[in-house]
Amino acid sequence: MGILSGLDALGLGNLSSADLYENEEKKEKKRYEREEQPAPKAHKVESEKDFVFLKTYSCPVCDREFKNPTMRSNKARMIGNDMDLRPRYTHVDPIKYDVICCPYCGCAALTRYFDQLTYPQARLIRENISKNYKAAAVVKETLSYDEAMVRYQLALGNAMVKRSRASEKAFICLKMAWLIRGKMENFDFDPDSHNGSIFQAEEEQKELLRNALEGFLNARQNETPPICGMDSVTIDYLVAALSFECGDIETSAKLIGSVLQNKGTSSRMKDMARDLKEKVIGELRSRG
Ligand SMILES: [Zn+2]
Repeated sequence: MGILSGLDALGLGNLSSADLYENEEKKEKKRYEREEQPAPKAHKVESEKDFVFLKTYSCPVCDREFKNPTMRSNKARMIGNDMDLRPRYTHVDPIKYDVICCPYCGCAALTRYFDQLTYPQARLIRENISKNYKAAAVVKETLSYDEAMVRYQLALGNAMVKRSRASEKAFICLKMAWLIRGKMENFDFDPDSHNGSIFQAEEEQKELLRNALEGFLNARQNETPPICGMDSVTIDYLVAALSFECGDIETSAKLIGSVLQNKGTSSRMKDMARDLKEKVIGELRSRG
């Protein structure tokens, strides 16, 4: 699978061909994992520095302390959302900083899942990641989009190895898709083009959105909200938006209907659902 291609350089090439949702059917239900919850064009690396810092964490797998680039949550200002709930902040793209990664053993996860490892999961990571992991050289304060992407690939590899629920893997895929969107908006491409073209990035984003949709559809069936911190209405809206982005207009229309009819839907969520409904109607019209 291309979405894990960056793991080869970390000594984890064997993971890049593994099947993302492979263990969903075989896996018995385990309840031990708790669930909760325009990048501006003018942004410069200098200003991004003011919004991030190196935070110290203790690794649940190797017990060592390490520093991780982290966004200062109190400083950056959120200016809105994309249709699929991607948050937009001034001066910094928070998506780049949502993976915690131990530079010593390769343990990596989204921030919300990092300290939720069970003992058997830590063992699985030790055996399947740490044993082969080539330690990262330097820990940097600010991350390029490509550096952030490798950290996400490592988090996804970890999630597969530790047999995470579909929702955790889907959330990583969704954020990877958002990361590529940020990369395209900021035009953070190497002029020597060895980190791909816009066209390639567009294709990668689509593949990741499809993977996210598959995982969230699975989670909607098999998990109890809140899922990745989202209540059931928010999950329905998100699946509607992802279905639209992936071209499944019928599923999108059905879910928008249920979001709009739900009495518990906030007015902000209703507004977003109405905007999405307009797009769905437009798409249906254009199909004749
Ligand atoms: Zn570690």
